[in-house]
Amino acid sequence: MTTRYDLAIAGAGPAGSVLGYLAARAGLRVLVAERSHFDGPKPGETAPPELRPLLARVGLSHVLDESTHTEAPAVVSVWGNAQPAERPHILSPFGNGFHLDRRAFDERLAQAAGQAGARCVSRQAFVLSEGSAAAMQSSRGVGSACKPALRLWR
Ligand SMILES: Cc1cc2nc3c(=O)[nH]c(=O)nc-3n(C[C@H](O)[C@H](O)[C@H](O)COP(=O)(O)OP(=O)(O)OC[C@H]3O[C@@H](n4cnc5c(N)ncnc54)[C@H](O)[C@@H]3O)c2cc1C
Repeated sequence: MTTRYDLAIAGAGPAGSVLGYLAARAGLRVLVAERSHFDGPKPGETAPPELRPLLARVGLSHVLDESTHTEAPAVVSVWGNAQPAERPHILSPFGNGFHLDRRAFDERLAQAAGQAGARCVSRQAFVLSEGSAAAMQSSRGVGSACKPALRLWR
């Protein structure tokens, strides 16, 4: 059986999953394929308080529960300068910042996309081959069509 999608998204990072979530909510048939199983290291664990209203705006506040983060009252960074720079969040109208568990955070966003109606699969990579559009690659090899071996979130 052939499954047709309006939108195929390579990668269930925050960008891919939120796009998949919004597109599915808008009524598109969406495929999100993630090449990993959310088990590798992922940089990007510090998020500012402004993440809260951004997620709220698209109905994803619930993703920020205790399993995905600990609150961070400030960020201290050493960036282009030997002197540590501190950014306290005490005056932020949105509260504290976040120290994210990226694996849990990314998985929760992918789950939200699945719950909105997107088909989300892991351990499936998009590969670009000459003369064709994207194909899917799994541990079983490269296929000419999307044949997800693992269906996780629906
Ligand atoms: C060292 C470092 C430190 C950082 N620190 C911070 C920080 O403190 N705070 C912050 O906000 N940001 C930070 N960032 C930036 C942050 O990591 C990124 O902005 C964020 O992860 C981007 O999200 P994304 O969804 O666009 O991409 P990603 O999170 O990179 O997700 C892309 C996904 O696509 C998958 N993928 C890739 N190719 C394919 C394919 N062909 N088929 C299927 N799946 C595929 C990958 O496995 C991955 O899961 C940091 C980045 C780096 C490199």
